[in-house]
Amino acid sequence: MENQNIRVRIAPSPTGFLHVGTARTALFNYLFAKKHKGSFILRIEDTDLERSKEEYIKNIYDSLKAMGLNWDEGPDIGGPYPPYKQSDRFDIYKKYADKLVESGVAYYCWCTQEELEAEKEKATSEHIYSRRCRNLSPEQVESFKKEGRIPTIRFIVPEKRLKFDDIVKGSLDFDLALIGDFVIMKSNGTPTYNFAVVVDDIEMKISHIIRGEDHISNTPKQILIYEAMDAQIPKFAHVGMILAPDRTKLSKRHGATAVSEFIEQGYLPEAFVNFIALLGWSPADGQEIKSLDNLIEAFSLERVSSSPAIFEFDKLNWMNGQYIRNMPLSEITQRAKTYLKNYDLSIYTEAQLETIVAAVREPLTKLSEITDAVSYFFGDSVEIDPEVKKDVIQIPESQKVLQEFFNLAESLSYDNIEELHDQLAVFRKSIPDLKPKQIMWAIRAALTGRIKGADMAVIISLLGKDRIKLRTNDAKES
Ligand code: GLU
Repeated sequence: MENQNIRVRIAPSPTGFLHVGTARTALFNYLFAKKHKGSFILRIEDTDLERSKEEYIKNIYDSLKAMGLNWDEGPDIGGPYPPYKQSDRFDIYKKYADKLVESGVAYYCWCTQEELEAEKEKATSEHIYSRRCRNLSPEQVESFKKEGRIPTIRFIVPEKRLKFDDIVKGSLDFDLALIGDFVIMKSNGTPTYNFAVVVDDIEMKISHIIRGEDHISNTPKQILIYEAMDAQIPKFAHVGMILAPDRTKLSKRHGATAVSEFIEQGYLPEAFVNFIALLGWSPADGQEIKSLDNLIEAFSLERVSSSPAIFEFDKLNWMNGQYIRNMPLSEITQRAKTYLKNYDLSIYTEAQLETIVAAVREPLTKLSEITDAVSYFFGDSVEIDPEVKKDVIQIPESQKVLQEFFNLAESLSYDNIEELHDQLAVFRKSIPDLKPKQIMWAIRAALTGRIKGADMAVIISLLGKDRIKLRTNDAKES
């Protein structure tokens, strides 16, 4: 399949922020395109003019870019088969629809909404359009026109079975008798989804359609249109859906659902991409942590699963933690700054900031947690958790430690973390009757307001003599 003819697309509707499901579909299309040196195309499906918004288009662009899924053709960059936004293509759909009417495979339907409703009400099972406009006499048409009715265009569905081979789902067989003649052009002149998507996929020479299995029921209709247009039918791959851990559709109730929300919450785009790649696909080598380049190398549609994938938030957190810990320190420090806007970072050099990030990143699952994790490195005094104050600082043993530590603070080697370690090691053993742990506990509580956190020598070195003395003194008097 190493050829130029692999052309795939992601075709989101800008009626909301880019959803994880669409992001996963985009990723699979991207990986497939890049693996086979083909093209990945972005098409904006904004035929629903009322619900489509510019803000959502921007969110789609930003989210795909953040994930590193750069498109080869799209509304913003053009390409050989423009335009790439459906609202700019209405003339094209009209031309194709007219052609289908001319060739006798589609017809004008003058039925009003009320008439169709009445049909639906009478139906005993699933309503199938009665096809009563299929063979109207010229007089009937004339009288509808006179009434001021504006027609839709319906596609004639032949009564046969339709079979196709899906790369993921295998052989599928549909009874077309269960599908009524469906509308391809609405009376307002806009195309329906099933029609626009086929016109565009033909014009944009799409070779493979990889999408969620919620679109399987649309596929027979789409194949019929390809056949009517004498166009080559692309290969289809319908991927199993993404479900929440409770096996229901992933929704707001389970947490974030938009890519941008996950990123804002502190998931690294690289980790997020890695995680969603594993929703319905697994690498042959069993090695789950993979960069985008490694994913491209490892990807194959044959390993895509047809069963639903469960979105395990715990696994995403675990994976994000891995990425936070393993990202080059300078890079993760830069990214952390998004979450440190409320601190005066200028009190530290870049190298010191990196030391802070290195000292606190180990237990983080989301990068946003860094705001709280570094808080005690900023400000002169420190806010002390009331329980820590009561249970740790105010007990007599700790007060004794703090007195001794205050004296020691004068002579510590603040600029040398190695020496500080040694000095603390000596101090830890210097108070008879108290366990080394208890001693360090008191100091940590006084300096950071908590009982857990970064390495004490790092903290002492970065806070410096003045703040160490101030905080120790505050804790002594509290
Ligand atoms: N606009 C459709 C959607 O958002 C595209 C479906 C397709 O890939 O054909 O689901």
